[in-house]
Amino acid sequence: MLNIVLFGPPGAGKGTQSAKLIESYQLVHISTGDLFRKHLGEGTELGKLAKSYMDAGNLVPDDVVIGMVEDKIKEHQEDKGFIFDGFPRTVNQAEALDSMLGKYDLSISGMIALDVPTEELKKRIKERAKVSGRVDDQDDAKIDNRLRVYEQETKPVAGYYQESGKHKEVNGVGSVDDIFKQITDIIATY
Ligand code: ADP
Repeated sequence: MLNIVLFGPPGAGKGTQSAKLIESYQLVHISTGDLFRKHLGEGTELGKLAKSYMDAGNLVPDDVVIGMVEDKIKEHQEDKGFIFDGFPRTVNQAEALDSMLGKYDLSISGMIALDVPTEELKKRIKERAKVSGRVDDQDDAKIDNRLRVYEQETKPVAGYYQESGKHKEVNGVGSVDDIFKQITDIIATY
């Protein structure tokens, strides 16, 4: 199985690259942000719980996120692989992911981090705000908070994968196809 963690700050292009990856490699896309937005749209209990965190640009508590991902892994353990997008976002989530996959004798093939400068991220999120309808894309304070949460809580996840030699970085500025090529070159080494 090909199990990839696509990593990077808000606005780095994880969703765009994930769409190309799932098509090329027939992977199951697990985007925790998309899953939460689906719950929000359907008005489920989980959606109601996640809403206040998401709207403010804070992280949803680990146990909630981990439970949701575990359900998805269980559902698709016979598939070709997973692309994890927006998860893990804390070291605790990364450890939980390893142990959840371990239960099915699976593991992460590698993590690929998209590197994009902060100013470019802000520009992209503001551009996306015009069409995304996302509350958390709409103002500077929320965007700044998301970037701060990324620096403090999520960046250490890269170190976690570095320890096991599974961390690779690509330049996330350039054409979508150029970035995709860098990613597929890395996947070819797994
Ligand atoms: P972004 O563009 O900020 O990366 P996402 O769509 O990945 O957006 O996530 C949107 C929001 O959903 C996050 O700001 C957070 O509130 C919540 N969320 C998504 N994934 C996680 C996660 N793994 N852990 C905690 N909260 C999460």
